[in-house]
Amino acid sequence: MYDLIIIGGGPAGLTATIYALRKRLNVLLITKDLGGKTNYRLQLPDIEHHLVINGEEVVNNFVNEIEYLDFARVMDKVETVERTHDGYRVHTRSGPDYAARALLLTTGALGQQLNVPGEKEYMMRGLCYSAVSYAPLFIERAVTVIGDSLLALRAALELAHIAREVTLVAPTHGELDSPLGKRLIAASNVTLMEGYHVEKVLGDEFARTLVVKKGADMRAIQSDAFFVELGLVPNSKLVSHLVDCDSQGRIKIDSRNCTTAPGLFAAGDVTDAFGEQVLIAIGEGAKAALAAYEYLLGQPVPEGEPSRAGEWR
Ligand SMILES: Cc1cc2nc3c(=O)[nH]c(=O)nc-3n(C[C@H](O)[C@H](O)[C@H](O)COP(=O)(O)OP(=O)(O)OC[C@H]3O[C@@H](n4cnc5c(N)ncnc54)[C@H](O)[C@@H]3O)c2cc1C
Repeated sequence: MYDLIIIGGGPAGLTATIYALRKRLNVLLITKDLGGKTNYRLQLPDIEHHLVINGEEVVNNFVNEIEYLDFARVMDKVETVERTHDGYRVHTRSGPDYAARALLLTTGALGQQLNVPGEKEYMMRGLCYSAVSYAPLFIERAVTVIGDSLLALRAALELAHIAREVTLVAPTHGELDSPLGKRLIAASNVTLMEGYHVEKVLGDEFARTLVVKKGADMRAIQSDAFFVELGLVPNSKLVSHLVDCDSQGRIKIDSRNCTTAPGLFAAGDVTDAFGEQVLIAIGEGAKAALAAYEYLLGQPVPEGEPSRAGEWR
């Protein structure tokens, strides 16, 4: 039995694994990949990438270390999680079940897709899901944001402070009546296209044109980049029967990354913590590992297991 199983190898899970190893926990990381969403990088013509904060060095260091420490990781997809009398049992797609006294979920969130022709082809080549991460690159450029939630409005407003012009394609009225929406509508460099739906994405090497439609009115929008900000879907299903989630499905955590289930922790984009950014996920992962360590210290020493200097195992 492990002390701690961590599900998800993005920035939050990688950091948590390294912290847990340093604490000499008997830890296992189960993940589909190493690096998570940091494996995606927006490609743009003539862009100064140093303006983007992506925590690349830290994440790469942790990936290298965990690749080397292969006893601490299993590359697999977790299919189910269940509570047991002494912890949690995790069932993977291709391997055996794994058991642990504590569990940390760092499975991230996925950007909601447009599902239109051209989306897959141009994804990360001029078309992307994280405007806030890339906003500093668009000084005096033209960008388009698609969405009508607060996420989309926040992205459009941030871009409006930097870019020459911002087009917001809002399929519905959404949150446009919010203070954010009102600020956007008042901004001189923002064009609002309310009620338009995206038909397709066109381009050459990079996405160049978004074809949108409202009734019989079809238009083509040209931009330097297009950001799909329809919302984030947290990968919380694995534990949604065990913990409280908010209305968007994000796992509710307290300041120590504890969920509402004892011994079950969560960190990164899958939680209701503010800010979907690499550096934030790294910090949250570190904090969650320390919280899990504290939790395990407070648990009774399991019977029949050798204990050194009163340790928990
Ligand atoms: C296109 C894009 C570009 C971005 N660019 C930046 C940027 O430049 N700077 C920045 O700060 N932020 C950026 N972000 C946001 C940033 O990537 C995320 O906030 C961060 O990666 C979240 O880390 P995480 O560890 O919580 O989740 P993720 O990075 O999403 O990692 C989740 C991990 O869980 C694994 N997983 C999921 N389900 C299972 C399962 N059932 N079984 C096993 N493993 C599972 C996945 O394989 C993955 O390894 C970007 C986001 C996107 C979408």
